[in-house]
Amino acid sequence: MAYDPDNIFAKILRGEIPCTKVYEDEHTLAFHDINPQAPTHILVVPKGPYVSWTDFSQTASDAEIAALVRTVGLVAREAGVAEEGYRVLSNVGVNGNQEVPHLHIHVFGGRRLGRMVP
Ligand code: C5P
Repeated sequence: MAYDPDNIFAKILRGEIPCTKVYEDEHTLAFHDINPQAPTHILVVPKGPYVSWTDFSQTASDAEIAALVRTVGLVAREAGVAEEGYRVLSNVGVNGNQEVPHLHIHVFGGRRLGRMVP
């Protein structure tokens, strides 16, 4: 799937629409989900034009990949959910019910989450 530069996260990354920022570095942005499904619901996105893990894993630099992983751990710690536990989830494509076609990771926490069954 080709990257759509007008997707909503691309617009957030360009500052064209607002977000509630949690963390930002050279390669990643993390912000609160606009429609939280748990007391903590943060989205972590790479800044590069990636739709999914498929293109990200093939074309992102090691630095971008490392930054994404490090940011997930950092926001979990900063949000105060690391001790009690949390969930990391990424929807991909049609079968994964991905709504926004820019790779992102959901970080959920702050309550006992339901058991995940596909
Ligand atoms: O993984 P999926 O693509 O389904 O999730 C997209 C997420 O982006 C949703 O949880 C939605 O609430 C969130 N979103 C947001 N800010 C926007 C648009 C969508 O946090 N402006």
